[in-house]
Amino acid sequence: MGEVSEDAVGRHRELVAQVRAHDRAYYVLDAPTVSDREYDRLFAELKSLEQAHPGLVTPESPTQRVGAQPREGVVKAEHPVPMYSLDNSYDLGALEEFDRRVRERLGDGETPVYVAEPKIDGASLEVIYRDGLLAAAITRGDGVMGEDATANARTIRGLPLSIPEKREVILRGEVFIHGADLEAVNVVRRGAGEEPFANPRNAASGALRLLDPALTAARKLRISLYDLVYTESGAPPYFATHSDMLKGLQDWGLPTHGLEQRCETLAGVYRYLDDFESKRSGLPYPTDGVVLKVDALSQRQELGFTARFPRWAIAYKFAAEQATTRLLAITGDVGRTGALTPVAELQPVALAGTTVARASLHNVDYIAAKDIRVGDTVVVQKAGEIIPQVMRVVLDQRPPESVAWTVPTECPSCKAAVVREEGEAALRCPNGRCPGRLRAALFHFTRRTAMDVDHLGKVLIDQLVAAGLVQDLADVFALPSKRDAVLGLERMAEKSVDNLLASVERSRTERTFAQLLTGLGIPLVGASAAKLIAGLYPDLPALLGQDLGELEEKLAEVHGIGAKMASSMVAFLGDPQERAMLERMIALGLTSQEDTSAGAAGEGPLVGQSFCVTGTLSQPRPVIHEKIRAAGGEVHDRVKKGTTFLVAGENTGKSKKDKAESYGTKVIDEPLFRAMLAE
Ligand code: AMP
Ligand code: ZN
Repeated sequence: MGEVSEDAVGRHRELVAQVRAHDRAYYVLDAPTVSDREYDRLFAELKSLEQAHPGLVTPESPTQRVGAQPREGVVKAEHPVPMYSLDNSYDLGALEEFDRRVRERLGDGETPVYVAEPKIDGASLEVIYRDGLLAAAITRGDGVMGEDATANARTIRGLPLSIPEKREVILRGEVFIHGADLEAVNVVRRGAGEEPFANPRNAASGALRLLDPALTAARKLRISLYDLVYTESGAPPYFATHSDMLKGLQDWGLPTHGLEQRCETLAGVYRYLDDFESKRSGLPYPTDGVVLKVDALSQRQELGFTARFPRWAIAYKFAAEQATTRLLAITGDVGRTGALTPVAELQPVALAGTTVARASLHNVDYIAAKDIRVGDTVVVQKAGEIIPQVMRVVLDQRPPESVAWTVPTECPSCKAAVVREEGEAALRCPNGRCPGRLRAALFHFTRRTAMDVDHLGKVLIDQLVAAGLVQDLADVFALPSKRDAVLGLERMAEKSVDNLLASVERSRTERTFAQLLTGLGIPLVGASAAKLIAGLYPDLPALLGQDLGELEEKLAEVHGIGAKMASSMVAFLGDPQERAMLERMIALGLTSQEDTSAGAAGEGPLVGQSFCVTGTLSQPRPVIHEKIRAAGGEVHDRVKKGTTFLVAGENTGKSKKDKAESYGTKVIDEPLFRAMLAE
């Protein structure tokens, strides 16, 4: 570590301060102060300065946010002071009751002043600074024990890695994700055949629990701090009131919501509620209510805690949008793995701007626990969720003849007796030949990330299965030999049959082996594992030629595959029926194209996605292409069929975008693209 010149030290300090200020502007104030290009330039300069003078690297340098290696597993951590929940209320009466109790406990001569502030709907996190450095972060867990999330918290760019206060500071806050950033995350998930997150809360709490901080960084988490906790050993009273504390946190450079308001009376609180309810939809983060807190910390101490809540705070929750309607039937969808998910068929009802005719019932235990019956009037709700949920039954409107719902004993599609594995909430259809499962499997097989058969939607799949024209995945490739039968299906014209069969031919000859493996829908084997396997064996015949015992050992060793996936893969290949099906695919002329996308390792957030880049971006195009490949994505020079995304920089013409849309290519801007790249 040679001598570091004063100049370098000074420049380093300057750059750290600048990057930090820009991070704050972007991630806390939502008001970027520089272009992405300028930011990248500063960051690159900082990095090369540190490379030239490794002695300059300190833990609080912005370059050290994603430093840690992926963890092996979850590590528990205890909260220095338990993390309590909040008492909840949905009506103003409860607030009055709260106010009355507070006054009663405080006694004469002490009048509470309240602070009203947003209740952010994310995941709570405890953050601890020691000697001015971000030292630890712990998720809430059960309030006493949480999970160590230190490495992940470091990736939250709005959270300073150092603060001027050198005493130990234990803080609590809410980690959240912007709506737009959630969309980017979900785009990647859908592309990879994964379930999108139903709401921002799940995305945030899931991100804090990820084992690889690089993946957490990609979620672009933000945080808002709302509490400073005093330890039992009696940390010095840093502040006298909650509102002073929030200002103090801001002075230390910590992110707070900045929307708190002191209210001397309940009338003031009500005005805040009104005002807040009208502006919350414009806030970049999701909120589900307002928290009311006693401002004076001395009064808080006097009030103390119940077993679960502080006596000095209450959450006023906004009612989620709800509607009441009749439950017409409980049906089940069977997925390709055989899992049965109960679905509520409803009398269509308007809810939060859409008409809702189906809602989630989660699983059979949920239905039993809530005693939800066909014919009941039920309350459906859309809160942060994208899919509406059945919340409860309006009991006094239950028809007298109604009977309790019975857990289905057979598959709604094939009538096979369902099984329920121990400890699992889901029922399964065990029948490998179930038409319902087959339909779901075909749908998965023919999607773009898999074998990409155009002109084959759900309706046509249903028809093909019902007519017996397709009985397994291999039969897709036999369709060209059954042209007349396909033409005989309802609503099939010559032209549409030609289109379909041409797509089938392309699918049979133009897809990669990784796409095939993805499409087979082998349990646990998703797009990225498929890529890894395809990197080891060039095509299906090569894979089928392996000794299964050796194959299992070999796959289990591969980083990114592991024992569970290996055994699932081998179980699939060892199943005589599946094996015969795969051999038929080969006999029908299935061939795999070489995978031209770089990164044969097939890792990274963009695996299975293809990109065309256009317009003016913050970096030269070849650099961006390289980044796409490095992240496991594929680069297309122009938008063509199958291009997943068009990254449209500034000055992208409308015709380009229209063309992309006509191909079903999603048009994204640079910030969204960078979010996908985990930048
Ligand atoms: P609940 O999960 O509904 O019991 O609400 C309690 C949770 O609200 C806390 O654990 C925090 O994670 C969260 N929360 C969000 N905003 C605030 C805030 N301003 N003050 C306190 N808690 C908050
Ligand atoms: Zn079935």
